Amino acid sequence: MVKIERSFPAPKSLAIEANKAFGSYEKEDVVERLIKDFHNKCYICEMDKLQDPQVEHLLPHKGNKYPDRKFDWNNLFWSCGHCNGIKNQEKYDTGIVDCCKIDPEKVMFFRLKEEMVQILAKDEKDARAVLTAELIMEVFDKRNTAMRIYKCDMRFRELNQEMNKLYDSIEELQDNPESKFAMKKLKALLRKESRFAAFKRNYIRENKQKYPQFLQYIE
Ligand SMILES: [Zn+2]
Repeated sequence: MVKIERSFPAPKSLAIEANKAFGSYEKEDVVERLIKDFHNKCYICEMDKLQDPQVEHLLPHKGNKYPDRKFDWNNLFWSCGHCNGIKNQEKYDTGIVDCCKIDPEKVMFFRLKEEMVQILAKDEKDARAVLTAELIMEVFDKRNTAMRIYKCDMRFRELNQEMNKLYDSIEELQDNPESKFAMKKLKALLRKESRFAAFKRNYIRENKQKYPQFLQYIE
């Protein structure tokens, strides 16, 4: 999860649809804008080029829990079906970090260590970060149905691949510190817009003694 710069004003259709009996919060302008603002990445697992994207409500509207938030632009997020399904548990109804307002990288660690995903709140008294870390852990690790085993494994595999790309790119740059090509590649891998960016950027941050020269790419 990385910080998202939500664009304003809100897509026009939302105000119009909110006044209809069966209005839709996923008209073309909303979908287009979410793809752009969220870089076509699921805000929870950070997979990109989603096959099954969904418009997710940070505060749920289902069961009429927060009906006034159904068409609220600030409450609409871009997610994959897997993460939306996992977030759809009562414990996550409120209290999740709003990544458009709070920078998740400032409040959580995103690690892949010894074949394990580890998301941790930087401050264990920060209830919002603790709950969000639990949610992100679950999307990589909640293997309670055959479908979820498949989907968690897929995310884990893709994350591993992306981290290996990062390690290779760092190695390449250490072998050829002057290589503009290698530098460009690393820079692209560390952009917030890239897949699993929070994990890659966290790696650089936590190894800053070793790689002080790369810190400039994650600012
Ligand atoms: Zn996801």
